[in-house]
Amino acid sequence: MTAMLEIKQVGKSYGKQEVLGSVDLSVQAGEIISVLGPSGCGKSTLLQLIAGLQQPDRGEILLRGKLAASRSAMLAPEKRGINMVFQDYALWPHMTVFENIAYGMRRSRQDQAGIKASVAELAALLRLEGLEQRLPPQLSGGQQQRVAIARALATKPDLMLLDEPLSNLDMQLRVEMRTEMAYLFKKLGTTVFHVTHDPEEAFSMADRLVIMREGAIDQIGTPQECWRRPASASAAKLLGAGNRLEVMGRIGGGVSVGEAKLAGVWPGQLAASNAEGPAQLLFRPDAADFQPHVVCTSGEAAESAASLEPAWERNRLPVHVVHSVFEGKGWRVLARTSDGQPLTFLHHRPLAAGDEGLLTISPTDLYLYPILEAN
Ligand code: ADP
Ligand code: MG
Repeated sequence: MTAMLEIKQVGKSYGKQEVLGSVDLSVQAGEIISVLGPSGCGKSTLLQLIAGLQQPDRGEILLRGKLAASRSAMLAPEKRGINMVFQDYALWPHMTVFENIAYGMRRSRQDQAGIKASVAELAALLRLEGLEQRLPPQLSGGQQQRVAIARALATKPDLMLLDEPLSNLDMQLRVEMRTEMAYLFKKLGTTVFHVTHDPEEAFSMADRLVIMREGAIDQIGTPQECWRRPASASAAKLLGAGNRLEVMGRIGGGVSVGEAKLAGVWPGQLAASNAEGPAQLLFRPDAADFQPHVVCTSGEAAESAASLEPAWERNRLPVHVVHSVFEGKGWRVLARTSDGQPLTFLHHRPLAAGDEGLLTISPTDLYLYPILEAN
């Protein structure tokens, strides 16, 4: 089957700055792709290349198997069967909701009755009924965003490009809208290429997630795969593994942090999994379970508990508490390892500065990467 979109070794520079190195990616019809990456990694540039608003310096972009862009070829944006929703919606402020949605259909000279019927259908689909005669400034952010989607859907594009479509909305509306959007596009069978810096937005939309860093793709997989096995330290950090400890040891075997020995997974290339030396260990604050040191009146009980399993298998990391902050659902605790490295974890009650205990972290939640890798 011909892919809807193929990006082949595409590169782009602005002046001396290389913004995209060599990007390879293909998108099937009906698929929703979310590109996730920090600000400045080249997401919008990639969208503009697909839309035809920029021309690649290297490589090729194919739409439905046909060349749309290369260094020497450039299909006009309006001939690509693509529509785009921008971060700021880019609605025409002097046109009503009706006129905004009808704009593309008018340009393609559809008849008046057909346009009216289509706008009514889209207004119903996007819950904009009754707002057709309003101007964009008279709408809430969420409504404006839905008008932008309706307008983009109106010309029945083969491919929808979404550039941070929810980042101008407040948090609660963002959560609502991303769920609605994912449902809508799946129901319509729209092929979507969506870019965002927000992991939760990417997860809720994506069939396949593409993690980008500095103009290159770090990982492609289902959201679940990427979440469980981030391919690089920077992907792990992007996906919530905010704790980073520098450790020594064998990545494929186990590592040490101060006195503690820990086993973890190394989700990157297996060839280097036995690499010796300094490594970085990343984990999410909610993956660590804290237990305070129990002062045993009977030293015997403490000893027998400790001898049950070697420290290695228990995957326990001694920490001392620095500070706790209330976060609603629980407390976020700032602590340090015995060799002085800072980390945070979540706990169900506040802990006091100076409290000591053990953090238990499952080996499958500890991600190890060679330290040579840039963050
Ligand atoms: P993202 O959307 O991931 O935040 P962008 O693609 O907007 O990233 O930008 C990537 C890099 O390219 C940034 O350093 C940005 O400053 C630069 N850049 C983007 N567009 C242009 C342009 N038209 N001219 C010059 N530099 C640009
Ligand atoms: Mg951008």
